[in-house]
Amino acid sequence: MVRRLLVAGNWKMNASRAMVSELLGQLATLSATDRDVLVCPPFPYLVPAAAELAGSGILMGAQNCAAEAFGAFTGEVSAAMLADVNCQYVILGHSERRSLYGETDELVLTKMRQVLDQGLKVILCVGESLQERQAGQEESVVGGQLALALAKLGDDDWKQMVVAYEPVWAIGTGETATPAQAQAMHAFIRAQLAARAEWIAAETRVLYGGSVKADNAAELFSQPDIDGGLVGGASLDVGQFTAICMA
Ligand code: PGA
Repeated sequence: MVRRLLVAGNWKMNASRAMVSELLGQLATLSATDRDVLVCPPFPYLVPAAAELAGSGILMGAQNCAAEAFGAFTGEVSAAMLADVNCQYVILGHSERRSLYGETDELVLTKMRQVLDQGLKVILCVGESLQERQAGQEESVVGGQLALALAKLGDDDWKQMVVAYEPVWAIGTGETATPAQAQAMHAFIRAQLAARAEWIAAETRVLYGGSVKADNAAELFSQPDIDGGLVGGASLDVGQFTAICMA
């Protein structure tokens, strides 16, 4: 089974109306028929982003969502709202959410359930810190972050899942995992998926994230177990992002 390449831009908390129209106006002209391109702007810009992307074939996602379905949760945004404004994907468990906002694997699982129940796809982020890597714990950390999703999500859920391996030490630091380091962890992740079911290992896309740039994307994406990228900083520059998308 050939997994379709997915290149996702995670804008984090960076955007303005002007940027949405300029960047997405240009990106919308990209013709990428053999791969999926996804952009994940902040919540207030999802509606104008969808308008810019209409008819382009470029997908749109959000960076987070509430663990609850609806109701008295001031400041939260539900998965149903994201579906309603035409998101197709939600990034969950990003290391910034885990480290800065205390998100646990249990909370991430609850959010995954909300997103999947709305018919949206999840990009589940996993990855070890520098300290954990130096202690040789990268596999146990990443295996631990995958464990609940493997145990608690059903087969139909797994058809909607993407995993993103993002070593924390490579995010926003300019330090990229070498293609060999990334491939080794992707192979480990795929083995975890295979232990759950061979078809899940064969079909689930595993993205690499952490200082992906135009000049390293092609080599990373050509690794056998790397099925695309989750791109932060470089997704804010349309020239860089376009080059990564076509890598
Ligand atoms: P970066 O971020 O590309 O800026 O390293 C990646 C991410 O956090 O998804």
